[in-house]
This record gives sequence, C-alpha cells and structure tokens, in this order.
Amino acid sequence: MYTDHGWIMKRADITPDGTALIDVHTGQRWTYRELAGRTAAYMEQFRSAGLRKGERVAVLSHNRIDLFAVLFACAGRGLIYVPMNWRLSESELRYIVSDSGPSLLLHDHEHAGRAAGLGIPAALLDSVPATSVNLRTEQAAGRLDDPWMMIYTGGTTGRPKGVVLTFESVNWNAINTIISWNLSARDCTLNYMPLFHTGGLNALSLPILMAGGTVVIGRKFDPEEAIRALNDYRTTISLFVPTMHQAMLDTDLFWESDFPTVDVFLSGGAPCPQTVYDAYRKKGVRFREGYGMTEAGPNNFIIDPDTAMRKRGAVGKSMQFNEVRILDAKGRPCRAGEVGELHLRGRHLFSHYWNNEEATQEALKEGWFSTGDLASRDEDGDYFIVGRKKEMIISGGENIYPQEVEQCLIGHDGVREIAVIGIADRKWGERVVAFIVAQPGNIPKTEELLKHCAQTLGSYKVPKDFFFVQELPITDIGKIDKKQLAIMAEELKKEEMQHP
Ligand code: ATP
Ligand code: MG
Repeated sequence: MYTDHGWIMKRADITPDGTALIDVHTGQRWTYRELAGRTAAYMEQFRSAGLRKGERVAVLSHNRIDLFAVLFACAGRGLIYVPMNWRLSESELRYIVSDSGPSLLLHDHEHAGRAAGLGIPAALLDSVPATSVNLRTEQAAGRLDDPWMMIYTGGTTGRPKGVVLTFESVNWNAINTIISWNLSARDCTLNYMPLFHTGGLNALSLPILMAGGTVVIGRKFDPEEAIRALNDYRTTISLFVPTMHQAMLDTDLFWESDFPTVDVFLSGGAPCPQTVYDAYRKKGVRFREGYGMTEAGPNNFIIDPDTAMRKRGAVGKSMQFNEVRILDAKGRPCRAGEVGELHLRGRHLFSHYWNNEEATQEALKEGWFSTGDLASRDEDGDYFIVGRKKEMIISGGENIYPQEVEQCLIGHDGVREIAVIGIADRKWGERVVAFIVAQPGNIPKTEELLKHCAQTLGSYKVPKDFFFVQELPITDIGKIDKKQLAIMAEELKKEEMQHP
C-alpha cells in the first residue's frame, strides 16, 4: 500500500490530526487527513480522465493549498507535475506548454481565461469533489528514478529550462534538509515564495510536510500581512528572497513585533545585502543565508546562525548527504580562498533538462553538476557564494565579481538598492557600471561614492558610471533582472552621447 513516492498517505496515517496546510488568503486549514482526502480526490480525477504514467499535469494558479494535493496526486498516479509561472507572457506560457506537452491543465478562477487560450484540456482546481479520506487509494507502481515534477528555472540568465526532479531527488532533498536543518513536526513555515518555483516548493514546504509540520501559504506578498502571519501562526523557520526581507524591515510593524516562536529567518535565491544582516542583528532575531538552485535540491548547505552572523555571506558546509567541490578554469580543485566554479553531487540532483540533451550533458558529468556559480571556501571549510560565472566582469584582464562591488556600495548611507553589471567597453573590454536606488532625501554625489569605493575596492573594481534609477527591474521571482539592466545601460549611454 505504501510506496516511497506516496509518502503523504503514510504521513497522514502517522499524524492524521496534525495541521498540514494553512491558507493565509482564505483562512482554510487542512489536517494531514484532509490533505490525504483531497489528494485521493485528485487521483480519482486523473484516473477518470484516463491519464497514464509519465504524462504531464500542468498548473496555472496563484499560491493556494490545493496545489499540494495536486502534487501528491501526481505522485500517486506516476504523473509529472508541471507548475507554470503565471507571471509569464502569453507567448512564454505557450512555449512552456509546447515544451512540456501537458495532457491536462488545472487552474484557479483568476487564470481561467488564460488557461482556455492555451489549447489543451483544462479544468478548474475547485471542480474536484472532496472525497472522504482513503489512505488505501491504490498508488501507481513506481520507481524512485521516475520523474515527479518538472520545474522551470528562474530564467534569470536565459530562457527557463525544464528541470526534471525524480522522487529520489525530491525525497533526498527533503531528508537532507530535515536532518541538516533539524526540522520536525513542531516546525511551521510561512511561504510567500511562488509555488511554481523550487524555493516555494522544495526549500522548506515539502521537507516540513515530510516531517509532519505545518506549512502556511501566502498568496500575494505584503510585508505587513507576512509579519502578522509570522506571529499569528507561531512560525519557526521561514524563507524569503532578499527583496521581501527588505520590504518587511522597512515597516514599523517589523520593529514592533517580537517573533517569539521564530527560530531563524532564511534568505535565498539571490545575494543578500549586508544591511539585511545588520537589521536582524539589531532586532536580535537569528538570520542566515541559504543558497540553492532548481537543479540541486535546492538545498545544499548548512550553517549555524551564530557562524552566519559572524561570517557574513557564508553559506556554511555541505549538508549530510551531498558533496561540494570548487574547481578552477582548468578543472583543478581550488585551494582555500581561491574562487572557482561550484560543483555539487548527491542523490538530490535533478535527472535531466527536459527536451535538452545538450544542456544536460554540459551540466552533468560523472554525477557532478556544474552550477555555473562561483564560490570560495575559507580555512574552516565554510563556503561563500561569489556570484554567477556569466555575470563576472572582465575589465582590462582583471576578474571582477559584481557581488563584492555591490556589498561595498550598499554600505553607503545614501544607497538603498544596488546592482552592478559589466557593459562592453572599447578600451577595457568591459567596464563596471552601478545602478543605484538612492535613499529618499539622501541622494549621494558621485564623488562621495567614488571615495567610499576607494576605501575597500581596488581601483579597477570601482564603477566607471553610476546610474540613479527609481527602482531596479525585478524578474518574476523577485531577483534583480541584470539582462534588463544591460539594455538600460546601453540606452542610457546612447542618451549621454546624444546629450553630453
Ligand atoms: P536560470 O537558470 O534560468 O538562469 P536561475 O538560475 O535564477 O535561472 P534558479 O534555479 O531559480 O534559477 O536560481 C538559482 C540561482 O540563484 C543560483 O544558481 C544562484 O546563481 C542564485 N542564488 C541562489 N541563492 C543564492 C545566494 N544565497 N546568493 C547568491 N546567489 C544565489
Ligand atoms: Mg540557473
């Protein structure tokens, strides 16, 4: 009756009355028994629709707790769950549909019109009648290396890639996370990260459900609503992207709140400004940075919060059941302090990119995954993420890591948000340019910024241009959109040339 990939039914048998899911938006609460019942209802829907093992079920929906029942029903029937990013344009959605070829699309009310236009059989998420709990619902026979979900990457560096995660990948990420981060049935997480992205689904939500804890799902991120939910639902561990942390820190409510049950806040998905660390330290709430990616877990590192506070930006050591190494450009292991490309290995890794054999071969060699990210390790063996290989700037033959320049500039009082990129330069190959959102009422002068940079950065790293903007362009999942910034930089330079 129980298989490794039908673990939600097993979990519901162990803790039927524990609270599994809460929806902040609707106030709905599901026990594990109710979650299992809804899962069985979707499994019945998939059976009567004639869906067969290996077919894809796509979803197009805002965050809501039903999505977990759909996900577990896919597991029970051996179907591949494909969550789609509702922020994508029509043509981008069409690309995902033609790439993944789903047999069924489930959607919420808000996306009914868009779903109907995609030309595949579609049904409303709410249309499935609830069934009484049936933990004995027959599960499809399956293997651990069968795909369970396909999640598209953030699309930060190019077109999103479909990452195929098997039961083994998802379950080992959860097991690794539970052991390494000490999760248990007492844990409760608040999640506003999109559920179409690995950060929302696999970073904490599934590990906490596997451990029997509670997952509180928010829909549209609002900093004050999130702060209230963090307190009201007695949350213990929650993950936000840096922009969400910043938005919460900017409210009075944050500073008035005590967060009595919170053990730790996590940041992930993008580099975290030091100002966020400083604010949590001032508040006396534990905070640490996580690093992850769709293809690998996402979780890979463990750091205790005291070390995290002491060594800013450190992500710590590799988790219990995975391996990490850093290689230089020639493929040789780097020494402590050297920067190289981060490689990961473990049972949590994805199996392949969907329909993209070439990218798979490029990324996965002898069980090791080349992340495309740069990292270093200190003498104690703690790892630091340095930035994306693609974003490294080479100016006059010198390597410059944008993150280092950003961390320097965010330390200036007048800088509220910062992004550093490289643009083509006739003399230097590339030049460093900085986009700045200034603190209201405290716009810094370029000379001041240059002086500030000169205190900590070598001269070749100091930006050649400072562009002041009202806001930074953000990708669908809240990361700074550096592709867009490169286009903006070109336009700004053109304007400067026309009106010097
Ligand atoms: P695409 O692969 O389509 O370009 P993406 O890499 O943004 O998009 P994700 O898998 O969602 O898609 O994001 C993982 C990436 O996010 C990592 O490879 C890394 O570059 C970045 N990242 C994640 N956490 C951190 C962190 N703590 N610090 C710096 N960068 C991070
Ligand atoms: Mg990526």
